[in-house]
Amino acid sequence: MLAKLARLVRHNSRQGEALEGKPFGEGPAAALAEALEIGREMGFRTVNLDNYCGYIEIGAGSDIIGIAAHLDIVPAGEGWDTDPFTLTEKDGWVYGRGVSDDKGAVIATLYAMKLLRESGVKLDKRIRLILGCNEESGSLCMKHYNEVEEPLTSGFTPDGNFPGIYGEKGMCAMLLRCSSSKIVSIEGGFVSNAVCSRCVTKIQAGSIGQGKLKNALDKTPLTSYTLTEEDGLLVIDAVGTAAHASTPLLGVNAAAYTLSALKEAGFKDDFVDFYLDRIGLACDGAGLGLKISDKYGDLTLNNGIVSMKDGEITCTIDIRFPVTYTTDQIRDLATPYLTSDKGTVEIQRLSDPLFYPPDSPLVRALYNAYVEVTGDTSIKPQVIGGGTYAKSLHGIIAFGCEFPDADNHIHDANEKLDIEEFLAQTAIYTQAILNLLQN
Ligand SMILES: [Zn+2]
Repeated sequence: MLAKLARLVRHNSRQGEALEGKPFGEGPAAALAEALEIGREMGFRTVNLDNYCGYIEIGAGSDIIGIAAHLDIVPAGEGWDTDPFTLTEKDGWVYGRGVSDDKGAVIATLYAMKLLRESGVKLDKRIRLILGCNEESGSLCMKHYNEVEEPLTSGFTPDGNFPGIYGEKGMCAMLLRCSSSKIVSIEGGFVSNAVCSRCVTKIQAGSIGQGKLKNALDKTPLTSYTLTEEDGLLVIDAVGTAAHASTPLLGVNAAAYTLSALKEAGFKDDFVDFYLDRIGLACDGAGLGLKISDKYGDLTLNNGIVSMKDGEITCTIDIRFPVTYTTDQIRDLATPYLTSDKGTVEIQRLSDPLFYPPDSPLVRALYNAYVEVTGDTSIKPQVIGGGTYAKSLHGIIAFGCEFPDADNHIHDANEKLDIEEFLAQTAIYTQAILNLLQN
């Protein structure tokens, strides 16, 4: 298994420039060719779907149990202790970009298929390991799959956490705009899907008492800040804490706390008022009529970027809404709050949640496999605010391959995989497919 994993890790399969017949460039296509070759060597049927994705299959019948893993990776980045493209074993772990996300899961699933074939169990459904090549950059691979291939009957994507993710919140992207502000410049954050962790704001030096502002800033949870004067301007450089947009309360928004301190210090400004009304500090959507929740979780709201251009300030808003709400309900609730005399909020994208009830046959079959193999009943399937392949394909949820409380440095330097857990993943996936064969 490790030798085969090393063959996949060897390919730098980050998205590259599109080439004729290789929509995501050389790297993902080479990793796909390698994975399909491994599948052929193991005696399975293989199909390449135009280098968008491919699949490796055993069994027969009209139903398809799909396992959707991905071969593309995020850039290796800096800070590695080993070569990210050479699988390196150390103290019971293997290191390399993609070992946990998601190339290890490809090999674990292939060995689950091999074990099932060798066990003699009746394979009266097809078991199809789908190999995506564009998960990290938009999942166009699965869009292509849906255009050219049969839908799945059931299955999972091994690209999340055990013991399974039965709900993925809906998403809504908005943009707040305001052209009425005394702020001279404001720049905060760099991606919409993370909490704005640093914000630099410039105002006229005489427009506010610096002592009052300092008092107000001292009361915030900001990690640090500096107040300096340059060219008649007061520069507020505030540092908060980054967090993923789906868990904004784990972060400290540098822009939001700068603006709330300005207001508290007596800075009267339409933008500051509009921001605090509509976005605010609570991350709960109340300012947009969206303070909603269901028994599976609360709506979350994150402001990731604040920037100013040609006198207009824009703020990105990333909302994750509860799994039992529809996009129409979100639009209806927010509509009365989108326009005001101070500015506007525009809905840019709205997408449906994914939800399979926790007692549905799919969720139960997968959860039972986890419990049967590990004996661990301390943690139940969850709802998350992110999005996986499960939103792109019919009939599946995310299931593994990370274990609860594991930190495999996904998307980070020194990505790793515990060899014992690699074997446990294989055992769980074998049992999961068996349960789905009998579902
Ligand atoms: Zn992944």
